[in-house]
Amino acid sequence: ATHTPLPVLGRDVLVPLVTGGEVDYAALDYAASAPALQRVWDDIAAYAPYYGSVHRGAGYLSQLSTDLFENSRKEVAAFLGCRPDDQVVFTRATTDSLNLLAAALPQGTRVFVFETEHHASLLPWQQRDGIEVGYLSAPRSPRQAVETLERALAAWRADDQEADTGAGAALVCVTGASNVTGELWPVRELAEVAHAHGARIVLDAAQLAPHHPVDIAALDVDWVAFSGHKLYAPFGAGVLAGRADWLRAARPYLAGGGASRKVALSVREGVGGVEVEWHTTEARHEAGSPNVIGAYAIASACKALTEAGFESLVARERRLIAKVREGLAEVDEVRVLSLFGDDAPRVGVISFVVEGWNSSHFAAALSAEYGIGVRDGLFCAHPLVRTLLGGEPGEAGECGAPETAPGERSLNAIRVSFGAGTPDEHVERFVGAVK
Ligand code: PMP
Repeated sequence: ATHTPLPVLGRDVLVPLVTGGEVDYAALDYAASAPALQRVWDDIAAYAPYYGSVHRGAGYLSQLSTDLFENSRKEVAAFLGCRPDDQVVFTRATTDSLNLLAAALPQGTRVFVFETEHHASLLPWQQRDGIEVGYLSAPRSPRQAVETLERALAAWRADDQEADTGAGAALVCVTGASNVTGELWPVRELAEVAHAHGARIVLDAAQLAPHHPVDIAALDVDWVAFSGHKLYAPFGAGVLAGRADWLRAARPYLAGGGASRKVALSVREGVGGVEVEWHTTEARHEAGSPNVIGAYAIASACKALTEAGFESLVARERRLIAKVREGLAEVDEVRVLSLFGDDAPRVGVISFVVEGWNSSHFAAALSAEYGIGVRDGLFCAHPLVRTLLGGEPGEAGECGAPETAPGERSLNAIRVSFGAGTPDEHVERFVGAVK
């Protein structure tokens, strides 16, 4: 029952308890950052002593590092089932990937995003001048999500034709698995609707990729973004993969070495200009020395997950989800947060509130008394959590821990999340502690 097909690091951490003694740390906050796979650590450790600069040296170690970096790109492309023309850009994380895409949108693009999104997929678009954002209301079922998008895109097309402006570009941004409820969104169906209206779609797979295969071609999404540190590769890198055309046409995300192919000063002294020819490959958006260790770690995790097979991971996780949900259902004071209802398919991310408890105090007690690490708060999805807690989506959220007296309506929630390498004992300890 405690078999772990993919061993992870951090199992030897002992936590002192306020009640006396110590206990092994139960990491149940995978949705924030998952532990590194042992395999990832081994690969990194084997390479790290031979680290060299990527794309910037004739020496053996530079070449080794360049090969490793470029092969990592191929590995990620295979993991995501990329189409032959897709690009795989290494970034810092999902937030960075989506900001990159926002910066690369053609002028005038209309963006559609559900108000339930994580801030990383909700906010980058309104940062761009000349981009209009349509915020779609919280759907209460996957079917309603598809219908809401269909209506919004049809209205946009009709407006556009009426104004006779000629259809501009449109982009839909959607999260594959919620970082609050763990619920899966109907990505394939949303992509179909988007494409039927001539829009493109980007998938925020930060929470989906660690739990399910993400096949860019099968899902028919235009781009996918995810973070290494949620995919068992916590070494500071992320990915934006997908269609090359908008990326090639866009201004480089960062200006600097590596992104530029040819640079010439048009005037030597005084006022002048610089003529730059930018790369049209992924390098266009990867200026500066890249994080080769982060990229290699992601590739290593992709390989390990593929070899282990998602089927066994999903089956095991399903069992752990059932254990947690059944355990929580036995506690009258617990309310599990859900947008799509009890039967919705989900990943191992579960948020809840406990009547009469301040969520932050509750999470602190789980840590101090049981050695269990969970997260409390609004999970960088303020409008969604507000809606789920019975408030208005427009009500302001706040990072940190809003203080509520026991008995008051909760202003924040507790989140438990898990994945590869989570032993049954950790979720059993969690359920016992809540009880
Ligand atoms: N999207 C979702 C669904 C997430 O859960 C997160 C991280 N909580 C992000 C985006 C942002 O990821 P990162 O912090 O790694 O940029």
